[in-house]
Amino acid sequence: PPDVETLGRSTWTLLHSIAASYPETPSQTQRSDLLSFVGLFSKLYPCWVCAEDFQGYMARQKPQVNSREEFSQWLCRAHNDVNKKLGKPQFDCSRWDERWRTGWKD
Ligand code: FAD
Repeated sequence: PPDVETLGRSTWTLLHSIAASYPETPSQTQRSDLLSFVGLFSKLYPCWVCAEDFQGYMARQKPQVNSREEFSQWLCRAHNDVNKKLGKPQFDCSRWDERWRTGWKD
């Protein structure tokens, strides 16, 4: 299996990409699908300490799925929580769109 770092990098790419393609105004079905997805993801993620901590985070900070803006900012904060734990720099969530959706302008 891939190491925790390679797996993590790929997984954040997938999660932020899902957020980037999530509708601005999701239907009820899309909202409940996303909630189910992140819930199941947090149980199945094959780094067990990561999965456990992420479940703990979700219990404290409920996933927000009412719009792309809401979900992407929730996800950005969740990722920053892991960054903090690992001693990595905090990402500026006001630049989330640039990084994951519209592309850096430089
Ligand atoms: P990554 O953190 O993988 O980030 C990839 C890219 O995302 C960065 O280069 C940056 O451009 C961008 N980015 C960074 N922060 C944000 C943000 N807040 N919002 C949006 N974009 C951002 N590893 C462990 O050792 N222990 C753990 O407990 C652990 N838990 C994890 C839990 C989850 C749910 C996931 C998906 C991963 C977890 N990891 C854990 C892996 C860890 O988060 C990193 O993926 C790994 O250390 C590789 O880090 P990286 O420096 O390449 O950048």
